[in-house]
Amino acid sequence: EKTVVLITGCSSGIGLGLAVRLASDASRRFKVYATMRNLAKKERLLECVRGCHASTLEILQLDVTDPLSLAAAVQQVQEQRVDVLVCNAGVGLMGPLETCSYQAMKNIFDVNVFGTISTIQAFLPGMKRRKAGKIIISSSVGALQGIPFNAVYCASKFAVEGLCESLAVILQQFNMHITLIECGPVNTSFLANLQHSDTEGSALQGLDPQTRTLYSQYLQHCQSLFRDVAQDTEEVLQVFLEAICAPCPPLRSFTTQVFMPLTRLKLTSPDGSEYIRAMHKFVFSAGEAQGDRT
Ligand code: NAD
Repeated sequence: EKTVVLITGCSSGIGLGLAVRLASDASRRFKVYATMRNLAKKERLLECVRGCHASTLEILQLDVTDPLSLAAAVQQVQEQRVDVLVCNAGVGLMGPLETCSYQAMKNIFDVNVFGTISTIQAFLPGMKRRKAGKIIISSSVGALQGIPFNAVYCASKFAVEGLCESLAVILQQFNMHITLIECGPVNTSFLANLQHSDTEGSALQGLDPQTRTLYSQYLQHCQSLFRDVAQDTEEVLQVFLEAICAPCPPLRSFTTQVFMPLTRLKLTSPDGSEYIRAMHKFVFSAGEAQGDRT
């Protein structure tokens, strides 16, 4: 019997890659329900899985912020069970906090937090009844530590960490596993797809010059970070696959060790001072060094 996997956010990036990888598994171990908000974007996925067996992939519409869409997707799973649920849909929001509109913040929380919670809620009862199931979350280094100018995104991803850590304590009683895949920067369209705060409009005009300078330094840092340490999707997918195939995957799985020294500071200096100093240096001192060189 095939392992039934349902993935959210499959029109691009990690979701698309994972759907393709599982659907084209040589031993045909998986039946993949690749879901996406907008079915008009299914061409790329179809292109990538061309030639793979039709019995391993089905594409469904699913907007994680729409309860009706979610209920309909649940109904369309022929096997009437999902063995592995991958909550991957997510959006970023970047910019000085003062320039983040209420609407933009609400959208981030609707997708990243309430969308993830609703998706889990939809499949949780079935998994509990069967005393089996895995939930995998596309999480982030920004879910474990604050990143300047990503405050709202981090807040939303932190929320999901709290959600999953709390659930995990109960789920072991049901033979279920929940795993947060902690990704650093990954070469996907995430940067292109993320929302920018109102940096053109009136909000930025009113912003103090010091924050404006820091933000432009941050944007440079972000660019070089994506250039120098971003992982390829394939590398990250390996970690997802391990979690999907392991009998007892851990609560957290890291795709990269690059941020581990920063992450550890939270434990070694619980008052946060070491982390704040180190993160400030990490983001803002490279720019100074570059400035020195020129
Ligand atoms: P991406 O932008 O290519 O993928 C995100 C997907 O979510 C898109 O296909 C988008 O259409 C979908 N989505 C957005 N709103 C949705 C909704 N309401 N309903 C259903 N789908 C929706 O970027 P990605 O890098 O593949 O991101 C996947 C996940 O990985 C996200 O949760 C993101 O936060 C996380 N992540 C990415 C990075 C990175 O650097 N790329 C780093 C850490 C974590």
